[in-house]
Amino acid sequence: MAIYEYLCPACGPFDVRLPIGTAPLSRGCSTCERGARRVFSPPNISRTHPALSAALDRDEQSREAPTVVSGMPGRRRPQPPHPALARLPRP
Ligand SMILES: [Zn+2]
Repeated sequence: MAIYEYLCPACGPFDVRLPIGTAPLSRGCSTCERGARRVFSPPNISRTHPALSAALDRDEQSREAPTVVSGMPGRRRPQPPHPALARLPRP
Protein backbone atom coordinates (compact mmCIF):
# COMPACT_ATOMS: atom_id res chain seq x y z
CA MET A 1 0.00 0.00 0.00
CA ALA A 2 1.07 3.53 -0.70
CA ILE A 3 -0.33 6.93 0.16
CA TYR A 4 -1.39 9.05 -2.81
CA GLU A 5 -2.24 12.73 -2.57
CA TYR A 6 -5.15 14.30 -4.41
CA LEU A 7 -6.31 17.88 -4.61
CA CYS A 8 -10.02 18.69 -4.60
CA PRO A 9 -10.80 22.18 -5.97
CA ALA A 10 -13.40 22.68 -3.21
CA CYS A 11 -12.04 20.81 -0.17
CA GLY A 12 -8.28 20.93 -0.68
CA PRO A 13 -5.72 18.13 -0.44
CA PHE A 14 -6.52 14.64 0.85
CA ASP A 15 -4.70 11.32 0.96
CA VAL A 16 -5.80 7.91 -0.26
CA ARG A 17 -4.15 4.57 0.53
CA LEU A 18 -4.03 2.32 -2.52
CA PRO A 19 -1.91 -0.59 -3.71
CA ILE A 20 1.26 0.61 -5.42
CA GLY A 21 0.73 1.43 -9.09
CA THR A 22 -3.05 1.51 -8.97
CA ALA A 23 -3.66 5.23 -8.29
CA PRO A 24 -5.65 6.92 -11.07
CA LEU A 25 -4.76 10.45 -12.19
CA SER A 26 -8.11 11.67 -10.91
CA ARG A 27 -10.79 10.34 -8.60
CA GLY A 28 -13.79 11.52 -6.62
CA CYS A 29 -13.13 13.61 -3.57
CA SER A 30 -13.53 11.69 -0.32
CA THR A 31 -15.72 14.49 1.06
CA CYS A 32 -17.74 16.10 -1.74
CA GLU A 33 -17.37 13.48 -4.54
CA ARG A 34 -16.17 16.15 -7.01
CA GLY A 35 -13.32 15.31 -9.32
CA ALA A 36 -9.91 15.61 -7.67
CA ARG A 37 -6.62 15.40 -9.54
CA ARG A 38 -3.60 13.53 -8.31
CA VAL A 39 -0.79 15.68 -6.93
CA PHE A 40 2.84 14.62 -7.01
CA SER A 41 5.05 15.82 -4.19
CA PRO A 42 8.40 14.71 -2.76
CA PRO A 43 7.93 12.08 -0.04
CA ASN A 44 8.24 13.21 3.59
CA ILE A 45 8.89 16.82 2.58
CA SER A 46 5.60 18.43 1.62
CA ARG A 47 3.89 18.05 4.99
CA THR A 48 6.87 18.28 7.30
CA HIS A 49 6.55 20.99 9.95
CA PRO A 50 9.27 23.65 9.51
CA ALA A 51 10.66 23.02 13.02
CA LEU A 52 10.91 19.27 12.33
CA SER A 53 12.49 19.97 8.95
CA ALA A 54 15.11 22.20 10.61
CA ALA A 55 15.82 19.52 13.23
CA LEU A 56 16.22 16.88 10.53
CA ASP A 57 18.59 19.20 8.65
CA ARG A 58 20.70 19.69 11.81
CA ASP A 59 20.69 15.93 12.39
CA GLU A 60 21.82 15.31 8.82
CA GLN A 61 24.53 17.97 9.07
CA SER A 62 25.83 16.58 12.37
CA ARG A 63 26.72 13.32 10.61
CA GLU A 64 29.31 15.02 8.42
CA ALA A 65 30.27 18.07 10.49
CA PRO A 66 29.28 17.65 14.14
CA THR A 67 29.39 20.65 16.43
CA VAL A 68 32.60 20.50 18.47
CA VAL A 69 32.39 21.40 22.14
CA SER A 70 35.47 23.32 23.29
CA GLY A 71 34.70 23.55 27.00
CA MET A 72 32.41 22.63 29.83
CA PRO A 73 29.03 24.32 29.86
CA GLY A 74 28.69 27.19 32.31
CA ARG A 75 27.13 26.65 35.68
CA ARG A 76 23.52 27.77 35.74
CA ARG A 77 22.49 30.15 38.47
CA PRO A 78 19.39 29.05 40.35
CA GLN A 79 16.37 30.91 39.07
CA PRO A 80 14.04 32.63 41.56
CA PRO A 81 10.60 31.07 41.68
CA HIS A 82 7.94 32.63 39.51
CA PRO A 83 5.97 35.31 41.46
CA ALA A 84 2.69 33.52 40.71
CA LEU A 85 3.91 30.50 42.69
CA ALA A 86 3.95 32.62 45.90
CA ARG A 87 0.18 33.08 45.61
CA LEU A 88 -0.57 29.36 45.57
CA PRO A 89 -2.04 27.87 48.77
CA ARG A 90 0.42 26.13 51.05
CA PRO A 91 -0.27 22.72 52.58
ZN1 LIG B 1 -14.11 17.86 -2.21
